[in-house]
Amino acid sequence: MKEVDLSNAEVVHYIVKRFGLRMNKKLGQNFLIRRDVVDDIADAADLTEGKPVLEIGPGIGTLTQALAETGAAVTAVELDDKLLPVLDKTLEHYDNVRVIHGDIMRIDIEETMHHQPFTVCANLPYYITTPIIMKLLEQRLPIEKIVVMVQKEVAERMVSGPGSKIYGALSVSVQYYTEPHMLFEISPKAFMPAPEVTSAVVAMDVRKQPPVQVLEEKRFFQVVKAAFGQRRKTFANTLKSAGLTKEQVSHILEVAAIDGKRRGETFSLDEFARVADAWTNIVKL
Ligand code: SAM
Repeated sequence: MKEVDLSNAEVVHYIVKRFGLRMNKKLGQNFLIRRDVVDDIADAADLTEGKPVLEIGPGIGTLTQALAETGAAVTAVELDDKLLPVLDKTLEHYDNVRVIHGDIMRIDIEETMHHQPFTVCANLPYYITTPIIMKLLEQRLPIEKIVVMVQKEVAERMVSGPGSKIYGALSVSVQYYTEPHMLFEISPKAFMPAPEVTSAVVAMDVRKQPPVQVLEEKRFFQVVKAAFGQRRKTFANTLKSAGLTKEQVSHILEVAAIDGKRRGETFSLDEFARVADAWTNIVKL
């Protein structure tokens, strides 16, 4: 096979037929078939010659090809072993692509990327989007930028702020570790097979420092989880359910200057941080 453009329906049809593939729905296999969309995603990653980039789930190699054409050093991790012979063929002309057979949730990503700073660019499998994003962020990997295609609804959650119905633990985590930007939406028609939902591309610039400083990160995320786990409760009741006494709750709210009648879902990152630190200090007393 020559260096053919992989991002169109005829080529994808041909590859599926030639390799006897069956799209695996469980693995979130919806392959891109529009060159402009593929190019827009690759452009958003701002890659340069030799820049290490991690792609999660290359599929038949459509986005991988666009990433490789920037001259970046591409590492593509694919779980489905049936796609390996396909990728061998479709990417055979690119010596700047390394395909690794593995589960992104299980591999040691830092080791795989040789402990170098890298960018992530991927059309993520939808069944596992949030765990992948959380793994990339929580492990404090040397990532500079993450450009991912996800369900539009997930993208909106990532960028939403306090008071919005969709603001949640994912929003706080993403905004704690990164500066996320919603870039553009993608119609189901850009994929084969077409998914039932609209997709969107989000770019996350990984922060060198979180926007709020806390004494204990673990406590900060415990507060966030508690607040969104019981969205309907007042924040004072949320803290009580987390095992604190009435007196401790009053003390924390007073020190953090927070009205306990509010709901946690209205809190900014700074307010979560104030509560977390007041709680940490109480435990130290
Ligand atoms: N990048 C291709 C494209 O844009 O056309 C395919 C994207 S498709 C939405 C998601 C890909 O992720 C599939 O190839 C699927 O087999 C792969 N995948 C699913 N779960 C995975 C996992 N845990 N680790 C690595 N790859 C995975």
